[in-house]
Amino acid sequence: MRVLVTGGTGMVGSAFKKYEKDGIIRVGSKDFDLTNYSNCCEMIEDNKPDAIIHLAAKVGGVKGNTDLVGEFFRDNILMNTNVLESARVLGVEKVMSLLSTCIYPDKCQYPLTEEQIHLGPPHESNYGYAYAKRMIHVQSMAYRQQWGCNYIVAVPNNLYGEYDNFHMEHSHVVPAMIRKMHEAKISGLDHITLWGDGLPLREFTYSHDIADCLMMLLEDYNSPDPINIGNSNEISIKYLAEKIKEKIGFSGDIIWDTSMPSGQMRKPSSSGKFKEMYPDFEFTGLDDGIGIVCDWFEESYPNVRGV
Ligand code: NDP
Repeated sequence: MRVLVTGGTGMVGSAFKKYEKDGIIRVGSKDFDLTNYSNCCEMIEDNKPDAIIHLAAKVGGVKGNTDLVGEFFRDNILMNTNVLESARVLGVEKVMSLLSTCIYPDKCQYPLTEEQIHLGPPHESNYGYAYAKRMIHVQSMAYRQQWGCNYIVAVPNNLYGEYDNFHMEHSHVVPAMIRKMHEAKISGLDHITLWGDGLPLREFTYSHDIADCLMMLLEDYNSPDPINIGNSNEISIKYLAEKIKEKIGFSGDIIWDTSMPSGQMRKPSSSGKFKEMYPDFEFTGLDDGIGIVCDWFEESYPNVRGV
C-alpha cells in the first residue's frame, strides 16, 4: 500500500521517517499548502497514494489555542475539508485522521471513552481547535455513509517527541519544560518557576509509539467510530518536571507558583478498545522516551523549532 503522511515534517510526522524504507511519503506545508484545495489535489495527483495518514494541523498549547482561536478553527477546518474531499474525488481508498483527547467535552465521564466525543462543548480555552477537529469525525462518517469512503479517526492523548515546537508561548508542557530547564542550566540559574502546584495527573505518549500504532490501525481498523490511542499511565506534572530535570541535568530548584492555575486534576482516557485489538503492544516508558527527547534537544539546540 502506498501511504502518504500529511504533516510529515511535524513532531508526529517525523516519527514516520523510519517507515520511509517501506515507501511512506511524508509531506509538509512547504510541499503543499493544505488550506488550498488545488494544492491538496496536486499532492494526491503527484504522489498517487492508496492511503493517507492525515496529521497536518495547526497545533498549540493553551496560549496558542486562545490567542489564535480563529486561525486554529479556520486552518484546521480548511485543511481537513480539503484533504478528505480531494481524497474522495481522486479515489484514495483510505484516510486516517487524528483527533485529540483534548477535544473531548469539558464536562465528561472519566475515563474518556470514544462515544463521548460529541456529548458536550469542549473546554473554552481550545474550542476553535476542538470543534474543527471534531468535524473530521463528522466528515469521515458522512463520506462513509454517502460514498462508502473508508475514512477512520484515531484519538491520541498528550504526545511528545523529537521535532516538537519549543516556542516559549505556544508549546505544550513537555517541550516547554525541556527548553526552560536547558536554558536555566546553561545560564547557571539556581531556580525556575512553573505554573500551578504540579499535582494534576496526565498521560504522555512518545511520538514513535503513535507512528507505530497508526501504521497498525491503517492496516486493521475500518470502523466509523473513533479509537483512543496512547499510553494510559498517568503521571503528575511534578513527576514529569523532576524527570526532565534529571535528564537535562539542571541542578537548581523548581518553584511551583500556586497563584497560577494548575488545570484539571485528572483527564484519563480509556485505552480499552485499542488494548483489545493489540493486547501485547508496549508503549515506551516515560523514563526512556523523555531521555531520548532531552538528549535530542540538547544535541540540536538552538536549531530546534520555536527557539
Ligand atoms: P506539529 O505542529 O509538530 O506539526 C504540524 C504539521 O502540520 C507540520 O508538518 C506542518 O507542516 C503541517 N501543517 C501545518 N499547516 C499546514 C498547511 N497549511 N498545509 C500543509 N501542512 C501544514 O504537530 P504534531 O506533530 O504535534 O501533531 C500532529 C497531529 O497530531 C495533529 O493532527 C494534532 O492535532 C494531533 N495531536 C497532537 C497532539 C500533541 O500533543 N502534539 C496530541 C493529540 C493529537 P510544516 O512544519 O512544514 O509547516
